[in-house]
Amino acid sequence: MRAARHTLGPWAAHEWSGGWIVYGGRQPLAAGIEVARVNANGDENDRHEADARLIAASSELLSSCEALLDDHRRMEPHHEHLCAACIAAQAAIAKAHGGGA
Ligand SMILES: [Zn+2]
Repeated sequence: MRAARHTLGPWAAHEWSGGWIVYGGRQPLAAGIEVARVNANGDENDRHEADARLIAASSELLSSCEALLDDHRRMEPHHEHLCAACIAAQAAIAKAHGGGA
């Protein structure tokens, strides 16, 4: 597992007058660090809320994916380069760390 360079979690999405803001770092919210802003455009607020909530979950999704991949490797010795789960997890983790697509 790599050392995190991103803002430490947990992250949380909060609605504001212009859309959604994702905060991380520390709680309470007032002490949090702004991670992302998802601006609302009229009737697209449902989609922007879903996007903000997905961004807010990403820090925990990344650490969970890394932990699951480590456990999967340890508990089921196999050819990782042929395992769809390992390939997908490695690609997602690489993407989160700035590699891959
Ligand atoms: Zn695997």
